[in-house]
Amino acid sequence: MRVVIVGDGPGGVELAKRLSGDFEVTIVDKEGLPYYSKPMLSHYIAGFVDEKALFPYSAEWYERKGIDLRLGVEAKIIDRARNVLVTSKGNIPYDVLVLATGARAREPSIPGREHILTLRTFDDAKMIKERLEGEGEITVLGGGFIGLELAGNVAKAGYSVKLIHRSKNLLRLDEELSEKLQEKLEEVGVGFHLEANLLKADKNGVETDKGYIPGRLKVCAFGVVPNKELALRSGIHAGRGIFIDAGLRTSAKDIYAIGDCAEYSGTICGTAKTAVEHAKILANLLREQDNHYDFSFCSALFKFADLNVALIGRTKGEGRWLDEKTKVFYKDEKPIGAVVLGDVRRAMEVEKAIREGLLID
Ligand SMILES: Cc1cc2nc3c(=O)[nH]c(=O)nc-3n(C[C@H](O)[C@H](O)[C@H](O)COP(=O)(O)OP(=O)(O)OC[C@H]3O[C@@H](n4cnc5c(N)ncnc54)[C@H](O)[C@@H]3O)c2cc1C
Repeated sequence: MRVVIVGDGPGGVELAKRLSGDFEVTIVDKEGLPYYSKPMLSHYIAGFVDEKALFPYSAEWYERKGIDLRLGVEAKIIDRARNVLVTSKGNIPYDVLVLATGARAREPSIPGREHILTLRTFDDAKMIKERLEGEGEITVLGGGFIGLELAGNVAKAGYSVKLIHRSKNLLRLDEELSEKLQEKLEEVGVGFHLEANLLKADKNGVETDKGYIPGRLKVCAFGVVPNKELALRSGIHAGRGIFIDAGLRTSAKDIYAIGDCAEYSGTICGTAKTAVEHAKILANLLREQDNHYDFSFCSALFKFADLNVALIGRTKGEGRWLDEKTKVFYKDEKPIGAVVLGDVRRAMEVEKAIREGLLID
């Protein structure tokens, strides 16, 4: 069976890895680089790892696995009547097509946008790193996970860092958890400007409703926009992302979507961990094993400076501390999610317990 995957991010590469050997696997990606780790980009910018550490799989690795990797190739449209993917470098026939097209950084829409960089790709990271080494300081716009990772790592490396965020709470967590994250990041030197709305940018800083904040290097981390255009052009249904069912099927026969581009009933998981989980489930389904993804329970693992933070399931509503690291959230006295600070092993135990409906102690 010929499986063609569009996108060589964590979702696409994990699926290829799991199918290689038993399926004829092709990956196309418009970027000219093999898979690299996006969660490591801020470590690279801060100078903690070199370029090589971002690229775990060489061209020979893909070859050894029997994966036909076509880089610098853009998927243009799907000819669904003939089961053919039309690309910038010719047509590729498929039996199963998987859209793992991911997402791109949301652009700021304020005047002076040209003075602001975004971070999604290796090339973005390279440019930010070069500018940072010249300027010695950075202003991060946005208190989501990419903003916090970048600010934390770069501050830890000794650069001067400001973080501007429009609300009081980071990561949309409750006040108590948000304050804990803020304290940890302040310890490494991140300066916070909270509840500040951006009005415009110029070469030397940004104007907010709380005043002018100077800073020549500005990086926006306002979230992401799913890459759904290929699907839409090909007549596949999409909303914010590409619509899928719990079996990761799109509205078109033999076409699936996984990772950041996929939307299930209003939910886009949006992390590397979930993209990899989708890939595992799809690999099982393609091997005709029964499986589905529980979209009510996305979880993620981040590292902000030295603090590991796990967000598990739903992290809003009635929350109680189980111990000093673990805050569990309940609905009708049933655990529905948790935040675990500083302990990856504990996070894995808690996630398993909540998923399986067990008591957590
Ligand atoms: C700086 C940063 C830090 C992050 N930190 C974390 C973290 O700590 N933990 C975590 O879980 N997640 C983290 N993430 C998020 C994580 O990287 C994404 O959720 C993950 O990469 C999504 O994987 P994906 O396979 O769905 O798509 P992507 O990684 O976005 O890959 C999609 C690929 O598809 C290609 N593509 C798109 N359209 C086409 C087309 N038409 N033709 C050909 N190719 C195409 C793109 O070039 C891209 O290579 C971070 C992201 C960033 C940017």
